Amino acid sequence: MSEIGRLLVRAPNWVGDVVLSLPALRDARRAFPDARLEVLARGWVADLYRAVPEVDAVRESQGLAADAEALRGQHDAALLLPNSFATALAVWRAGIPERWGYATDGRGLLLTRRCPVPPAVRGRSQVYYYRAMLEGLGIATEGPPDATLRCPGEWSDRGAELLGEGAWIGVNPGAFYGSAKRWLPERFGAAADIVARRAGAKVALVGGPKERPLAEAIAEGMEAPVRVLCGETTLAELVGVLSRLRLLLTNDSGPMHVAAALGVPLVAVFGSTDWTETAPVGGASRVVREHADCAPCLLRECPIDHHCMTRVGVDRVASEALELLAS
Ligand code: SF4
Repeated sequence: MSEIGRLLVRAPNWVGDVVLSLPALRDARRAFPDARLEVLARGWVADLYRAVPEVDAVRESQGLAADAEALRGQHDAALLLPNSFATALAVWRAGIPERWGYATDGRGLLLTRRCPVPPAVRGRSQVYYYRAMLEGLGIATEGPPDATLRCPGEWSDRGAELLGEGAWIGVNPGAFYGSAKRWLPERFGAAADIVARRAGAKVALVGGPKERPLAEAIAEGMEAPVRVLCGETTLAELVGVLSRLRLLLTNDSGPMHVAAALGVPLVAVFGSTDWTETAPVGGASRVVREHADCAPCLLRECPIDHHCMTRVGVDRVASEALELLAS
């Protein structure tokens, strides 16, 4: 494996998974210090790798056939972080001689180096899911996991421009996966009002275009000065905005992981998802959740009364946030 001069890393397709796989990417960088490390990523996550200094170049995936054509003869090895058959087929069709990854989705025969998913990764942060793959492939992992992003200066400047003057806290009230992951919108607004008043801050509501109606409804009910940025930011601009926040109140979501990777203090409300595997990594993060026998259900929509979320009170979230700010 030491003769790998050009290494392709196929990125996960979700923002949160990209962040949680960064420690494994850095392990690969350490294992091949002289290789040119290129990342192949879907367009909606590709920019995140521009905040990862260990990456030499980023390519946007254009789909299986186009990727196979574009990658032909360009790399010595491909490390596949996603588990899908299609990602293995693309690098096999591209003729990349070494193809590494978990033996999942019936793709084992397409891989030259493969390993099963070890049961021991269940119930641990997902960073160990990716690191265990490297260990299974014979690539050493070292030290505590480093899932940090370094926000480029121009992104941070753009974030400041979008926010305007003053101190800001953020609220990320959506969750792309589904409504089961969302805390109650009016409670986000009430908690943000308490924190903003005590901290002398304004409130930025962040997220994608689909979350804009939700954010506008929250903003209408709030007392603090508010800006709704949902749907107004590229991924790079969202990273820039998050980097300028004093604190983020959030659901379990991609922006939560990005904020944690930037070292932004945050309070994350968890209900239907498994906090043992997808809690924010590192930094000043707090997870707030209440007991529910049915949690984690991992469903997109709650089929009953959503009590995993309705049991989480405004005061609890606000006091965790104020403690974080005070520390
Ligand atoms: S089924 Fe239970 S864990 Fe899942 S969303 Fe509903 S209340 Fe929450």
